[in-house]
This record gives sequence, structure tokens and C-alpha cells, in this order.
Amino acid sequence: MPTDPADLLRQRGIQVTAQRLAVFRAVSGHPHITADAVAEAVRNEIGAISLQSVYDALGVLVGEGLIRRIQPAGSPARFEDRVADNHHHLICRTCGRMVDVACAVGSAPCLTASEDNGYEIDEAEVVYWGRCPQCVKKAKKKEKSRGQRQHG
Ligand SMILES: [Zn+2]
Ligand SMILES: [Zn+2]
Repeated sequence: MPTDPADLLRQRGIQVTAQRLAVFRAVSGHPHITADAVAEAVRNEIGAISLQSVYDALGVLVGEGLIRRIQPAGSPARFEDRVADNHHHLICRTCGRMVDVACAVGSAPCLTASEDNGYEIDEAEVVYWGRCPQCVKKAKKKEKSRGQRQHG
């Protein structure tokens, strides 16, 4: 994105502060970052910031649609600035690594509910849970060594 983050904030009528800019930059630079990690990145960039200020800034940015909040079950919330395409996520149950997957059909919202029960649906959230290649490899290695012990 060639646009200056400060301009993006201004376009949405968000007051530009050093903290908000640093939070936005941290999310842009680290897709699927947690609030804790944002706080760490911001501290490295502009010095002290409280976790509460990080949450406040994240809340403002999410509220204005500049970043997206993903809340996988049993995992801390993650934040990303890829907001326009309704993409989905693959999450490793073992190590928590999260990667993007393209929308299942093409355009948002990609899932048409068979029965909307009168709801006005604007988003379909899909999370694919499983194990990442590294964790599968590690698990296989473990199984192999266990098997060898049983035979020997
Ligand atoms: Zn993993
Ligand atoms: Zn993503």
C-alpha cells in the first residue's frame, strides 16, 4: 500500500497520534500480530506505551475498518491490515501459526447461508484448524522414534 498511514487515519477522521501510527505500522508489518506483540513493537519504535493504550488504538483502528481483528477460539486476538478481501485463515492447533487462505469462492461474502433466519448477513468467518507442516513433520518424527523403540 503506497498510501501514507497518517493520511489513511486522517481520511477516516481519526486523530493522528504517534501511538496510533506506531500501532498501525506494527499491524501492517506483522500480519496476525497479537496485542502483546504490538505493544512490544511500538515500544521499540516510540518508547513506552501501556497495553491499555495499545488496546485503545487497536479498537479505534478496527472500528474504522483500517485493520481487522481475528479472534480464534482459545487463542489471543490477532490483528491484520488486509481488510478488503474477506480472506480466511489456517491455524495450527499445535503452535498457533496463522496463515492467510484466499476466499473460498472469490468475492465477499463467499458463503451464502442456506437459511439466513431473517438476519442481514455481512460477513462469513471461516477458520480452518489443523497442524502446520512443521508440526506435522515434528509429530511424524516422534511417532517414528516411538515405533523404533517398540520394535527394538
Ligand atoms: Zn504448528
Ligand atoms: Zn489474514
